[in-house]
Amino acid sequence: MISENFILQSTDPPKINNITIHNTFHNDDMTLVLDENTDENQCDELLLTFDNLKITENSKKYIIAIDNDECIGSWSDLSLLYSIFQAEKMYKKSIHDDEILDLFVDIMVKTSCVRPFVKDFFDKMIELKNKNIVFKIVMFTAASDSTGWVSFLCKVLERWIGMNFYDEIIHQEMIDEWHLFNKSDCRNKIGYIKNMNMIREIINFKYKHNTDHFEIIAIDDRPQNIVNGISIGVSPYFVAMNMFEVIKYFMPTKHPYLMSRYKKQIEGCWERYLENPSIYIKSSIDSEFYYKLEHIEKLIIK
Ligand SMILES: [Mg+2]
Repeated sequence: MISENFILQSTDPPKINNITIHNTFHNDDMTLVLDENTDENQCDELLLTFDNLKITENSKKYIIAIDNDECIGSWSDLSLLYSIFQAEKMYKKSIHDDEILDLFVDIMVKTSCVRPFVKDFFDKMIELKNKNIVFKIVMFTAASDSTGWVSFLCKVLERWIGMNFYDEIIHQEMIDEWHLFNKSDCRNKIGYIKNMNMIREIINFKYKHNTDHFEIIAIDDRPQNIVNGISIGVSPYFVAMNMFEVIKYFMPTKHPYLMSRYKKQIEGCWERYLENPSIYIKSSIDSEFYYKLEHIEKLIIK
């Protein structure tokens, strides 16, 4: 019986990869002890039940839904670079290799594509998750993952912070399908409607736990599109990348070839900036996530 294998005490969250018979797993509230008779095949089920038990111990739970584009970063130029890498046979097999991920992390940080204070925000969310206050962290983006870009960017972000961060990724194709199934409009005049019940349904199904009463806090540069959740708006974040210089600096040996083959796209990035420079932000003066983190902490911790 599962109940015979549980002892409730206190320490860190269980990690599935660490499961061995006779091991002990814990968090702040309780400890899971698996005895020598526990079937290893049961471990996943036990840990899922354990997670659910932990949840019932605390009354208030939060799920954090984080938008992607223009919210935690300015990705249009970086996604172009991804498309170029994908189109090139020489990179195709290795697009998810650590070396490529490291290159994108380096570019993302040095060009300030990733928004200032996002790392602090991620760290705080992980801390709240470890304290069993935040249940799951979700990327909720209206961007398409048909090219694999959204999934790739998640890997880049997680490589940057050095750990798994997102429990779920919801992208455009999933939003379309959900609205189609529910016979609801997926768009309004200013973009995709993000219904937080979609998150609840996915998490309830996947983690076999009813999260209908959980608060979902959505951070988005279009907060007016959030439905059935608490929305926290951030100003849209755009930075301009001079792709010509970026490729020259980060990939000097590939620079002549890429410039000859993708000249129009590469130069187009900078031209877009020159056409409308007023929408772009100096990353050094952006402190949106610093203040929004304070806001969320007050909301959650009270
Ligand atoms: Mg956005």
